[in-house]
Amino acid sequence: MSQLKILQKTETLHEARWWEAEANGRVHCYLCPRHCHINPGQAGFCFIRINEGGKLYSLGYGAPAALQIDPIEKKPLNHFLPGTRVFSMGTAGCNMGCFFCQNWDISKSRHDQVHSQHVPAEDVPLLALQYGCDSLAFTYNEPTIWGEYVIDICKAAEQYGLKRVMVSNGYITREAFHDVYEHIDAANIDLKAFTETFYGRITLTHLQPVLDTLQWLKNETKVWFEITNLMIPTLNDDPAETRKLADWILTHLGPDVPLHFTAFHPDFKLRDKPRTPPETLHRAREIALEAGLHYVYEGNIYSDGAHTNCPSCGSVLVRRSWHDVTENRINHGCCPQCGSAIPGVWEKNASESARAGQPAAEKYSHLNL
Ligand code: SF4
Repeated sequence: MSQLKILQKTETLHEARWWEAEANGRVHCYLCPRHCHINPGQAGFCFIRINEGGKLYSLGYGAPAALQIDPIEKKPLNHFLPGTRVFSMGTAGCNMGCFFCQNWDISKSRHDQVHSQHVPAEDVPLLALQYGCDSLAFTYNEPTIWGEYVIDICKAAEQYGLKRVMVSNGYITREAFHDVYEHIDAANIDLKAFTETFYGRITLTHLQPVLDTLQWLKNETKVWFEITNLMIPTLNDDPAETRKLADWILTHLGPDVPLHFTAFHPDFKLRDKPRTPPETLHRAREIALEAGLHYVYEGNIYSDGAHTNCPSCGSVLVRRSWHDVTENRINHGCCPQCGSAIPGVWEKNASESARAGQPAAEKYSHLNL
């Protein structure tokens, strides 16, 4: 992840949403299921929501710590505008405490420990257009904790037809869920394991709120979403657990939600576990397909398990090499061989004329993204 030059520091505090005042100047943040009760002068678990004088403020607002252009396959999203570029951003902090975090340099940092820069919400879509992106992704750390900034960026992006993507751990409350996701077109939700033991010990959170979020997405929104399960040797790679996870997805979300099994590499506080062997991902994919899921992928390795196959006739529809799309045969959302509809978002809706003539974000033109 490239760290960018500091453009301009701002110390202006942005008042948060999703909080209430309590006795003695304390505040209760109900944005995520941690429900932090924060004393004056202190921050919540995620570091970037602070109580100043009895009010809650978001330090993440307008202050990305990482900006980058990624392939959409890196999020990972395999059924959403394949082969396109996504303008990706993240801030400091996180509401989970995952020992294996692969972006811990920002997610486990306080706001003042990262090189954040001041980027107003309305400038983000201009930057994305300048760099030829079709979508924006809120990613790298947990975007729920900077939900106010996410919403304002989404509103600013609407007029340009840019799609909006959350890459999230799914740890959000009912009170905030629709406020955020009504502005979102696609999401990848981490389902980090299928045991409360793993969630409790390795992420310092709970499993059930993540399952709730997945069901809200399915039953109450039009958001296209996919699921990622990072497989860590001995911690969450038991075949029986994989089968339970796949069965739950089939029963509660249906067979067409894509599931990505991705390879772990030792990082942060989890350096005593080896990299995930490719065989583990092959086995997990076989289990999930056998359970009845239609689209199951392997990620962070080179594998034929990265391709999209038609569940009806078996022909290869999209070939991928790591995050590159090498062939895309999907024809207006259908298999060219048997005509079956393939669920996903395959066509861009941003008209080129809507984009034409938009002023480039000149003040950022020196950035080498
Ligand atoms: S968003 Fe941050 S401050 Fe709010 S409840 Fe979650 S961890 Fe605590």
